[in-house]
Amino acid sequence: MLTIKDKTFVPFIAADTIQNRVQELASQISRDYADRQPLIIGVLNGAVVFTADLLKCIDIPCEVTFIRVASYASTTSTGHLKQILGLNESIEGRHVLIVEDIVDTGLTMADICEQFQAANPASMALVTLLYKPSALQKDLHLDYVGFEIENRFVLGYGLDYDGLGRNTKDILVLAD
Ligand code: 5GP
Ligand code: MG
Ligand code: MG
Repeated sequence: MLTIKDKTFVPFIAADTIQNRVQELASQISRDYADRQPLIIGVLNGAVVFTADLLKCIDIPCEVTFIRVASYASTTSTGHLKQILGLNESIEGRHVLIVEDIVDTGLTMADICEQFQAANPASMALVTLLYKPSALQKDLHLDYVGFEIENRFVLGYGLDYDGLGRNTKDILVLAD
């Protein structure tokens, strides 16, 4: 159990379950991109832990970089997406893999995709550790999904509540 400010979080996905799934996704990606040298783009801050763990398990040549966007205030989505920051690499002609911590409404991922498609990558695929199908508002094809979860607020393993709680090995969920 973990209390942050006024909220209590309880265990949800254990560290070893996460690590096993990350290894499976990495193996799948390594097979799918064996002859394509992907450019892996992690979305900060939430995907930092997942991207790092995924990267350690991917055993083909790849590049990695990070971008930053912000669309979430506290525990409800604002739906207002800010611009993509920090991408110095050209994605034209590249095989791009976008790595997110969680797809909730899908607005963030859809907006990133739209902006990236305009830059003519050779291919683009979406990777997310967590996915809340019942919250999705966009027509989004997710290529690699770690766990489908119900529509509840989770934290840990990179995900925060008001900036806190990213530094846990397990994922926790807001207690009812
Ligand atoms: P979207 O609604 O655009 O799909 O989600 C945007 C961002 O909101 C995610 O990348 C993540 O940072 C944050 N988010 C969505 N659901 C949750 C959640 O359950 N917990 C936490 N900590 N962040 C979330
Ligand atoms: Mg995120
Ligand atoms: Mg956040």
